[in-house]
Amino acid sequence: MAIERSEHDSGPNDSGGDDYDIVIVGGGVSGPSAGIYTARAGMDTCILDRGPSSLARCAYLANYPGFPGGIDVPTFRALCRAHAEAAGCRYISDMVVSVRREDTGDDDQDRIVEDGANGEDDENEDGGRTSGNFLVETADGRAIETPRVMIATKDDTTYLEALNDEAMFVTESYGGETARYFDSEYVDDDGRTRVPGLYVTGPLSGCLDQAITSAGHGATVGFSVITDWLVDRGYPRALARGYWDWLSKAKTRSDDWTEHTRAFVERSVPEDASDERIERLVAELRAHTDALFIPEAEVTRRTRRGHRRLLEHIDDAVIEAYLDDRADDE
Ligand SMILES: Cc1cc2nc3c(=O)[nH]c(=O)nc-3n(C[C@H](O)[C@H](O)[C@H](O)COP(=O)(O)OP(=O)(O)OC[C@H]3O[C@@H](n4cnc5c(N)ncnc54)[C@H](O)[C@@H]3O)c2cc1C
Repeated sequence: MAIERSEHDSGPNDSGGDDYDIVIVGGGVSGPSAGIYTARAGMDTCILDRGPSSLARCAYLANYPGFPGGIDVPTFRALCRAHAEAAGCRYISDMVVSVRREDTGDDDQDRIVEDGANGEDDENEDGGRTSGNFLVETADGRAIETPRVMIATKDDTTYLEALNDEAMFVTESYGGETARYFDSEYVDDDGRTRVPGLYVTGPLSGCLDQAITSAGHGATVGFSVITDWLVDRGYPRALARGYWDWLSKAKTRSDDWTEHTRAFVERSVPEDASDERIERLVAELRAHTDALFIPEAEVTRRTRRGHRRLLEHIDDAVIEAYLDDRADDE
């Protein structure tokens, strides 16, 4: 649905400027995981990454599925970044120093969703989740305006103080010292907060503090963002919630899809939806579905490309030694 790129793993963001649908603060595990989904959905996605990193302190990753011998952290981080870039994210090595509402003259507190706090606003089923832009300022002097920000920094949230919402933080005392922390209760299960357009992912939002659960949570919050973005673009929420990112074998496709698509749209739109709106949604949904089915030859092409991309991250000397050992064995 609403996929604007014909191939799902396209090259880096081609917007050319600093015009992003979402800025993700943090490129550890949860940030790139979310960005892979948002970029593949067609959102212009920027990941800013520099500063304290939980992952960088891990000595060796032995429990992330898919790596039977474990994986060293620098290689894992490089793979996460390369994957996010291949999906279309723009990765910038820069540290965020403040996130605040762009000055519109409104009181920031007025833009907090009290009733729909920590979740989708059911009163406003088809309403969007954004309300004006954020201004993301960085150590290197960038000032990026964006309607959505996702926080994916486990260890640093000082830059959120500029949003002026005390409910975000809790203060605890230990042995006469007080410390201020980001309150994970501020975030709902899907990563939304009571500030429209502000999302939080990873252990900071209360998910289990492991790399794989952080990646999984990043994906969940990525889907929340995509749903809200589609609603902002005129999709009924029921339809936006039906977005998925699967690839299927073309030979398994049946003609029923065409009928399913129309029925799904007609079930989801309000009764007074115009024919024009219905046709636009059906056409977009069909285009999305078409891109999800790939023929066998394309599976083969992607398999080779995927293997090569993995090899790019392995030391040539290790590859050569492996080939020599295999030749000796034969
Ligand atoms: C010592 C140690 C060992 C661990 N060992 C394991 C293990 O063996 N297995 C396992 O599964 N998990 C392990 N973990 C937990 C795992 O590292 C975390 O659960 C996971 O990294 C959290 O991912 P994240 O992306 O949310 O945060 P992080 O990994 O902390 O990534 C956040 C990213 O944001 C960037 N950043 C921070 N502040 C800013 C800012 N202001 N602006 C821009 N960018 C910013 C950082 O540079 C970093 O790249 C370990 C953690 C520690 C501390």
